[in-house]
Amino acid sequence: MAVIDRILSPDSQLQKRFFFLARRFVAGETIDAALSAVEAVNARGMSASLDFLGEDVTEFDAALATRDVYLAMLEEIRRRGADTNVSVKLTALGLLLGEDIALQNLTAILDAAQRNADPFVRIDMEGSTVTAATLRVFERAFKTHSNVGPVLQTYLRRTPEDVERMIELGARVRLCKGAYSEPADIAIKEMPSIRRVYLRLAERLLTAGTYPGIATHDRRIIERIDDFVRREGIASDRFEFQMLYGIRPQVQRRLIEEGYRLRIYIPFGTHWAGYFYRRVLERRENAFFALSSVFSK
Ligand SMILES: Cc1cc2nc3c(=O)[nH]c(=O)nc-3n(C[C@H](O)[C@H](O)[C@H](O)COP(=O)(O)OP(=O)(O)OC[C@H]3O[C@@H](n4cnc5c(N)ncnc54)[C@H](O)[C@@H]3O)c2cc1C
Repeated sequence: MAVIDRILSPDSQLQKRFFFLARRFVAGETIDAALSAVEAVNARGMSASLDFLGEDVTEFDAALATRDVYLAMLEEIRRRGADTNVSVKLTALGLLLGEDIALQNLTAILDAAQRNADPFVRIDMEGSTVTAATLRVFERAFKTHSNVGPVLQTYLRRTPEDVERMIELGARVRLCKGAYSEPADIAIKEMPSIRRVYLRLAERLLTAGTYPGIATHDRRIIERIDDFVRREGIASDRFEFQMLYGIRPQVQRRLIEEGYRLRIYIPFGTHWAGYFYRRVLERRENAFFALSSVFSK
C-alpha cells in the first residue's frame, strides 16, 4: 500500500497516466465527472452516495481542504438536482489529528447537507485502529444531527454489539463485510462465517433497525435477504441495497427490476490508489482486468 501510494502519489504524472486502470471503479477525478456518473446511475433508477477519495490525513489544512470539497460537492448536487447523498471518511477529515477536529469538519458537512433533498451523510468505516474513535465521533455528531449514520463491518467481532447500540439509538447503519486486513483476534477470517453473521445482523437490522443499507454484491446473501423480506412482509421502502460503482451491473439492474431500492457508492478524486488496491485485493480478476487494459490500450 505504502509503495503503491508513493509510486502513484496523487500529484505525480505517473498517477495521472495510470488513472485508466482505476476507471472501472472510480468515476473520475473532478466533482463534475462524479456528478455525471451520478446522473447516469439516476437514469437507471438508482440513487447514489458520493465519496471524495482520501484517507489518513495528518495535516490540518488537508483536512480542511477535504471538508471544503464536500461543501462544494453538496452545493453542486443541489444545483443539479442529483439524487445522491455523500459518504465521508473521518481520517480524511482529520481524525488522526484529534476527534474534535474530525467532529468539527463533519459538523460543517452535516449542516450544509441539510439544505439538500437527500441530507444524509454516511461515515465510512476504515481500519480497526480507528473503529472506536469513528463510532465515538459518530455518536457525538448524532446528538445534534440526525442526518448521519455509520458503517458496521461484519467481520469485526465487536459488531453484533455495535448493531444493538445503533438499533437503540435509531441510527441508520450500512452493513458490509469489511474491506481491511484485520488480525484474527478481533476479526472473523473465514468467509462462510462472515456470511452467516452478515445474514443474522442484516435480519436484525431489517426487523428492528432504521432504514438499513444492505451493502453487498454477494448473490447468496442477496437471495436470502430477498426471501427474508418477502416472508416477513418488510416493505421495499424500509431499507436499501447498496453496491459499489462498477461492480456487478447485471445484479444492480435486476434488483431495480424487482422493485428494490439500490444506492450506488461512487468514489472520485485523485487519491484513488488505496481504494483501487482494496478492490483488486478483493477479487484477483480485477488485477487481470487492470493488466488487460494496459495491454489493450
Ligand atoms: C456500498 C458499499 C459500501 C461499502 N463501504 C465500506 C466501508 O465503509 N468500509 C469497509 O470496510 N468496506 C466497505 N465496503 C466493502 C465491503 O466491506 C466488502 O469488502 C465488499 O463489498 C466485498 O464484499 P461482498 O459482500 O460484496 O462479497 P464478496 O463475496 O466479496 O463478493 C460477492 C461477489 O461480488 C462480486 N465482487 C465483489 N467485489 C468485487 C470486486 N472488487 N470486483 C469485482 N467483483 C466483485 C464478485 O462476483 C463476487 O463473487 C462497502 C461495500 C459496498 C457495496
